[in-house]
Amino acid sequence: MEYPEEIEEFNERIRNAITGKTPERKIWVTSLSFYLRKAALSVYLGTFKYERTGEMLVGSVLHEWLGNAVSGDDIEFEAPVEYPLDEGWKLVGRVDAVKGDYPLEFKFRGFTAGDEESPKGPEEMEEPPRLAVEQLNAYLNMMGKERGYIYVFDKNGMNFKPFQVERDEEQFQKMLRRARVVINGVKQLEEGRFPKWIKPRWKRECEECLFKPICDAVESK
Ligand code: SF4
Repeated sequence: MEYPEEIEEFNERIRNAITGKTPERKIWVTSLSFYLRKAALSVYLGTFKYERTGEMLVGSVLHEWLGNAVSGDDIEFEAPVEYPLDEGWKLVGRVDAVKGDYPLEFKFRGFTAGDEESPKGPEEMEEPPRLAVEQLNAYLNMMGKERGYIYVFDKNGMNFKPFQVERDEEQFQKMLRRARVVINGVKQLEEGRFPKWIKPRWKRECEECLFKPICDAVESK
């Protein structure tokens, strides 16, 4: 019997759950900006939604406030995007907003008055945050758009500055290579092997990582 696509996708999830396979073969764009063994464990164990830090939750609240405050027919908030990878995998993400032809990303940060070197507000920033550029560039490539904007907001008072970002295909190819590392890591986990070969870029990444007990146990053997 032929089933509609949604039902077939649900059937596949159940089959995967029964056989212990990764329920969803998808990789979030945001996870690729960080350490890739963590991303592989997150996909394999399905823990992505539990990994939000306090800072991320503050960001979510501000995103929601902004969405309500400036909503309109000409702007879509939290727009889902996806891009096919090999073997049924896909790269997925949620663009903070899309207005016309332009995907928009919102970043909220605090600015300290005490530090002489650092900008005192978004208007003093010369460049947008690097990780935000990487993520917005992924969305531009996934959506086939040429240009987008990163809005940096000051969490205290909500001053803001929009930064223009042009699509960069080479940088996106690097991100796709990182996605392949994650896929290989997940495959090994499914085969009962631990992807020790994926090393952290900085040891301090482990400090607040959800998977530290697992890595410590495996690496101590
Ligand atoms: S504990 Fe460290 S090595 Fe293990 S997944 Fe987390 S960041 Fe990576």
